[in-house]
Amino acid sequence: MKITVDRDRCVGAGLCAMTVGEVFEQHEDDGCVVLRVTEPPEHLTEAVEEAEQLCPSLAITVDSTAP
Ligand code: SF4
Repeated sequence: MKITVDRDRCVGAGLCAMTVGEVFEQHEDDGCVVLRVTEPPEHLTEAVEEAEQLCPSLAITVDSTAP
């Protein structure tokens, strides 16, 4: 799994960080998403996919086919 985020789309809603804080956090200045890891451990797969679906601005892209 590989994650990318589009900070230009992010509206700082913070749902991703609330859903899986091990992977997403919000920048302290603008509240926009910051990726803590791009290739999360397998046990976080479900939570990361949930965050992708919850993001209101479609700023999170998850490539599940990536190793
Ligand atoms: S849920 Fe989406 S809009 Fe909200 S902080 Fe995360 S990436 Fe940005």
